[in-house]
Amino acid sequence: MWHDTGTGAWVTPASLTVEPLGHIENADGKRRIRNLVEVSGLIDHLVQLKPRMATEDEILRLHTSEYVDRIKKASSEMGGDAGELTPFGPGSYEIALLAAGGCMTAVDAVLDGKVDNAYALVRPPGHHAEKDQGRGFCIFANTAIAAAHARKVRDLSRVAIVDWDVHHGNGTEHAFYSDPTVLTISIHQDNNYPPRSGAIEDTGSGAGAGYNINVPLPPGSGVGAYTATFDRVVTPALRSFRPDLILIASGLDASAMDPLGSMMMTSDGYRMLTRTMLAVARDVCGGRLVACHEGGYSPAYVPYCGLAILEEMAGVRTGLEDPLLGLLAGFGGQEIQPHQEAVIREAAKLAAGLPPASR
Ligand SMILES: [Zn+2]
Repeated sequence: MWHDTGTGAWVTPASLTVEPLGHIENADGKRRIRNLVEVSGLIDHLVQLKPRMATEDEILRLHTSEYVDRIKKASSEMGGDAGELTPFGPGSYEIALLAAGGCMTAVDAVLDGKVDNAYALVRPPGHHAEKDQGRGFCIFANTAIAAAHARKVRDLSRVAIVDWDVHHGNGTEHAFYSDPTVLTISIHQDNNYPPRSGAIEDTGSGAGAGYNINVPLPPGSGVGAYTATFDRVVTPALRSFRPDLILIASGLDASAMDPLGSMMMTSDGYRMLTRTMLAVARDVCGGRLVACHEGGYSPAYVPYCGLAILEEMAGVRTGLEDPLLGLLAGFGGQEIQPHQEAVIREAAKLAAGLPPASR
């Protein structure tokens, strides 16, 4: 909660044209998920894991030492920008280490059988962070670092990352683009952020060819398009790849309430996607599923989406109702539309083309 992204006024320091507003990536949504988990009583059914900080060596698996040194130095002074659209304040280096370390804590707890599955509610987010610069509010590549930990330290043969954040998981894609042992799937709004990133044609290179699947859904996609994507692309890809662990890059910014996305997902939609992921995880990797929090910029609505996901993962219904569900679920176009169907059909071919994993 102490990661300080400032007021946003620095974006146009020379010619401020509008009253500074708090930065859109802030602690509110995350704090309110945590609060709702408490108030609903769900917290009584959860095991709380204490996050550790990532070590510098763990960060260096996916980032350059020049970049890490730059963040560390700026963080010990007044902060700065990690690269593109990623402001941070004093102390954010240590907080970013906790975010990456929290995701690894979650992976270890699941692999050690301490918990059935885990949700790492961390910030700053990570899926836009590149090897040598921060991007899109992300400093270190939390979810990708957790996958690298599972591969290199925990010796898992294969890991899959399913990114349902509304933005393209460019950093995750780049980290494993030529690696056939990490399957990366990103379901995102077509050409939202980063611009010109996340095309369906980008499928991996070298030994990793075929092991990156992008599903760039048209703006306006709702629960119908998302559930179809998970049934027809994500599930078959995971059943074919047979990972030893599934990670979800869990951005909640595909919701109908999000100011940085133009999709129409509901809490119930996220509940259905979570159910699908749990079922696949049960079948292919003994239920080993870890979600790492990414984006989500509607402080009003992300708590309900987060609660629905956590209820499914815990197998508990608290009975706390999402007061907006009736309204959002009734939006026109929630069912799959022909132009959405066309993208999903192309992506399904990629999933079907994955070579079956050898054991
Ligand atoms: Zn996002």
